[in-house]
Order: sequence, then C-alpha cells, then structure tokens
Amino acid sequence: MSLSMPTTQTELRLAKRMSRLGTETAFEVLVRARALEAQGKHIVHLEIGEPDFNTPANIIEAGVEALHQGHTHYGPSAGLPELRQAIAEDVAKSRGIEVKADEVVVVPGGKPIIFFTILALVEEGDEVIYPNPGFPIYESLINFLGAKAVPVHVREDRDFRLDVNEVKDLITARTKLIIINSPHNPTGGVMTRQDIEDLATAIGDRDIMVLSDEIYGRLLFEGEHYSIAAVPGMKDRTIILDGFSKTYAMTGWRMGYGVMRPDLATHIARLMTNSNSCTATFTQRAGIEAIRGDQGEAVRMNEEFRKRRDMFVKGINQIKGFSCRLPHGAFYTFPNIKQTGWQSKKLADALLDQAGVAGLSGTAFGAFGEGYLRFSVANSIENLNLALDRIDQWTKKNL
Ligand code: PLP
Repeated sequence: MSLSMPTTQTELRLAKRMSRLGTETAFEVLVRARALEAQGKHIVHLEIGEPDFNTPANIIEAGVEALHQGHTHYGPSAGLPELRQAIAEDVAKSRGIEVKADEVVVVPGGKPIIFFTILALVEEGDEVIYPNPGFPIYESLINFLGAKAVPVHVREDRDFRLDVNEVKDLITARTKLIIINSPHNPTGGVMTRQDIEDLATAIGDRDIMVLSDEIYGRLLFEGEHYSIAAVPGMKDRTIILDGFSKTYAMTGWRMGYGVMRPDLATHIARLMTNSNSCTATFTQRAGIEAIRGDQGEAVRMNEEFRKRRDMFVKGINQIKGFSCRLPHGAFYTFPNIKQTGWQSKKLADALLDQAGVAGLSGTAFGAFGEGYLRFSVANSIENLNLALDRIDQWTKKNL
C-alpha cells in the first residue's frame, strides 16, 4: 500500500452538537466596541458583567505570595482542602445551613458548575426549566447537551421575580433540573423567601434537582438573600453555584465553586479531573484570603454599586421611551424600551454605533428579553453620566 501526503484542504466537519451551542453576546459586543475604539471612537462600556474595581490588595498579595511559595503545581481536583473548608464555613454562615468541606467543589469560575451539573444530572431528552430572560449560558448548555430547554418567563410586572405558579405549570414527569438565579442577571430581580419556599413546595417529593445560581448573593441592595438550600428537605436537592468573580472583583482569576451533596460532589470532581485537572493552586490560596481576610473592600464595592444604580436608574427614567425598575441586586439595570418603538437588538446596535454607548439587547438573554436593554452599572459615575447624556441626545434626535 502506498501512502501519499494529503494534498487537498478538507472541510471542517464539526460534531452536530456544536450547532446547538450558544454564546454570551457580551463578549461579542465587547469585541465590536473595541473595534470602534480602534477606529478612534470613544465608547462607554456598559456591556460586560464584571466589576470595574481592582481585586482587593490583600487578595492580590496572597496570590503573589502563593506563587513565591511554590503553589504552582497540580492540586486535588475538588480543590485545596483549606479552601474547601473556608468555603464550607462561609456558605454555612451566609445561608444558615450546615456545610462540610466534602460538599464543596472548587472550579475555574462559576460557569463550570453550570456545565458540570447539567452534564452529570441530565439525560438527553430530559427537561430543564430555566429563567428567560436569563444568563445565556443556561439555555446554551441545556441545548448543547441534548436536553429540552423549558424557559420560564421572568416578568417585569412581578418586579422580575420568578413566578412560581408558572414554574409549577411547566413541571412534567421529564423535568430533571430547575435553574434559578437570585439576584438575577440581567434584571436585578430578587426572589423573596416566600417565593423560594413556594418553589420548594411546588417541587415537593418529585425527583427534581435545583441549580441555584447565587453568584450575586452578596450584591444585594434590598431584601434578603435566601437560598433554597435552607428550606427543610431541599439541601440534598440543591447545587449552590457561587464564586469569587463578582463579590471580590476576581473575574480574571477564574475561581468559583459548587456546594452539593457529597455523593454528587465526587462526580463533579471527576468531571474536573477529566477536563481541567484542578483549579490553579495559587489562585485558590488567594481565595482563602478573600474569604477569611478583611471584607472591607467587598462592602465598599457594594455600596458604590448601590449609588451608581440609584443615579443611573433615575437618569434613564428621564429619557424618552425608557422606563426602568430599581434592580434589587447584582449590578445591572434592565430598562424597558418598548415605548421607543425600536426592537432591542436594533436599538442596542444603534446606541453603540451612533451614540458610543455599549449595552446589550435584552434578547441576548433569551427571546423574552425583547423590549429591554441591559446596561451594567459597573462603571464610574462619570462614565454613567456620560452614557445617560449620549443616550438622551440620541433619543432626542432619533425618536
Ligand atoms: N452566573 C451568572 C448569573 C453570571 O452572570 C455569571 C457571569 O456573568 C456567571 C454565573 C459566571 O461567572 P464566572 O465568571 O465566575 O464564571
């Protein structure tokens, strides 16, 4: 048999499932905004969901020290025991539940917990209920992994709190997982204790797990953060997703975690072994400092977000065609733009191209986001004021 070297270029033949994988539009808009900046345009960035603050100095110091001390090797797939212990204590205290270190799995960011949970629990054809509008990665991964995505409409007239009665109507014998997210991206809605208890009652004795995305749990301006894991009987059915990205301005460190029953934790750790091996060890050392060290900076950032939220919402409500509820948590505003007569995507594009304000179309968070835009308030008061001015000028000219 004679062998010949390949001479023709082959077509890329992707696996079919890749056509079902979505994306996070924030990253695409960021690229477009940067391209406009490269052409010399000035853009106010209100598109991406990350604190504009630096990681607190004590955390950076701990990371640097860890590097110098040689924490540069593989670690256990589930995370360093000391960090798992620190997280267990922190989650126990903040949620009023008992948590042991073997119920914690540390992963590179909050996102992998979404991926691994669906991968570990959901069979092809199973149904997953998730908030829409909502963090786009839920829908993307549900579809990617061959499950049926069942959206529950997060409605403005309920102050963007999930309607438990709607969830109840969507539950079927095939429902395997319900994803909730409070405080909620993109709307800032916060579920009340009553909502959470009603959801637990709706689930009842059914064999349904809950992925409770609590990554904005500490970024709360009104009300209380109540975890469904605290409802009697629900802890075993709940995977809490949380992390360091938002609370401590550590998005680029890639560090998050899941809290779940220990028998599930071993499987999630096995997914880590098969994918990432482990989360970077020096970042985990910094994570211990984040949790156990001084919380002053985290509190200060929270206060700053509250001030910005107040001024931005007040300002946007004075602009023709825009009306915005006060978000109760996270650092996003989700103004209703139906009175402008524009479609969300078109308006977001026009504001970027013509007004130099980068925001996201509500539809970047699912079909039920039509009629809304998302502006992050993770930017300075000065820039937020500039954005308001530009949007105001633009609407005066174009509406
Ligand atoms: N969950 C929600 C609701 C988010 O908004 C985000 C980030 O934007 C994440 C999870 C993921 O966070 P991380 O950057 O830690 O992966």
